[in-house]
Amino acid sequence: MARIDTKVVHGGRDDFMTLGVHAPPVDRSTTYPLASLAEATADLDRMCDGEGEPAYSPIYARVHNPTVARWEQGIAELEDADAAVAFGSGMAAVTATLLAAGAVGRHVVAIRPLYGGTDHLLASGLLGTRTTWATPDRVAEAIEEDTALVVVETPGNPTLTLVDLADVVAQAGEVPVLVDNTFATPVLQRPLEHGATWALHSATKALGGHGDVIAGVVATDAARARTLRQVRIVTGALLDPQAAYLLHRSLPTLALRVRAAQASAIELSKRLQGHAGVLRVCHPGIADCDPDGIVGRQMDGPGSLFTFEVEGGLEAAGKVMAAVRLMTPAVSLGNTDTLIEHPAGLTHRIVDPAALASAGISPGLLRVSVGLEDVDDLWEDLDQAIAAAAADA
Ligand SMILES: *Cc1c(COP(=O)(O)O)cnc(C)c1O
Repeated sequence: MARIDTKVVHGGRDDFMTLGVHAPPVDRSTTYPLASLAEATADLDRMCDGEGEPAYSPIYARVHNPTVARWEQGIAELEDADAAVAFGSGMAAVTATLLAAGAVGRHVVAIRPLYGGTDHLLASGLLGTRTTWATPDRVAEAIEEDTALVVVETPGNPTLTLVDLADVVAQAGEVPVLVDNTFATPVLQRPLEHGATWALHSATKALGGHGDVIAGVVATDAARARTLRQVRIVTGALLDPQAAYLLHRSLPTLALRVRAAQASAIELSKRLQGHAGVLRVCHPGIADCDPDGIVGRQMDGPGSLFTFEVEGGLEAAGKVMAAVRLMTPAVSLGNTDTLIEHPAGLTHRIVDPAALASAGISPGLLRVSVGLEDVDDLWEDLDQAIAAAAADA
């Protein structure tokens, strides 16, 4: 089995030689000519039953798209999963997984913090689920007879809290576990290796990596992938083939991008510790932020996001965002450029205020997703922005 740096380059390209192409072909057909009705109906039956590949024809673009399927294959290989199923956004992937897990009308156990949208989806019960919020050590006691799945994110968005996946899986027992692996990427963490049932990504982030695609993907076992495809066909939460092409184009540089950004995140979070105007810094590479030794055991590296809390709360945090000149003051993460955002005001605005406070998402907290710029340029920018916010106080 190839190693990760090889997989990112070659994943999902198995049929290129046969096709005689070198770049992923973009198939934009919505419908396909079906001269053989017998073969078409056989394929339609199989694909509506969740089969991943047609024998004769994709039939119709909501049923199957070859450009999307190639990228899915690449992601499945990275996650060491039987298959991966792509969706039009990370939230569409979360929704499809809840539907496929049969969670509608049932109970869910979830560990905070989660991405704001996922938190809101579960807290609001919009899909008819009922959620018990558990701390990582209390998952077992939160499980009920009717629990459909456990939802966890590690590193957690935005505080970078790390969760021991093997422990959560053990506590969940027979109940399947969904892991949002967006922050780590499969380069640094493969949840299925630790017993998770689904590894989910907002591919809008590092998998896309260039801030120009919105997408989601779920890697899982063959049977569950079938159910996810069935859900995708009937809900129509599709990934556009042009988006799949861009995602596939980004895949070969994934490991390089993740490691380069990670190296700068390690350096910047080190320099920020004890810096004037900064109350605390969190990065999984800092021992205090990884009390259980997850990095090295469950994660192959600490990743490219860190958070810090500025003195002066909300007002000072706003000033830092206004004062950066090189970093982009924006939500999202995993881009080529460095992004800085205010979780309490933006990505997690939709989360219950009491839950925000108990998760440590304070008014002065800023989250940085490190990009590929020169680390000294980034440092100078961050340093001047923090100084400008303090001077203005
Ligand atoms: C962005 C994000 C999502 C949602 O993904 P979209 O592509 O914006 O729908 C889910 N989980 C995490 C961890 C995210 O960062």
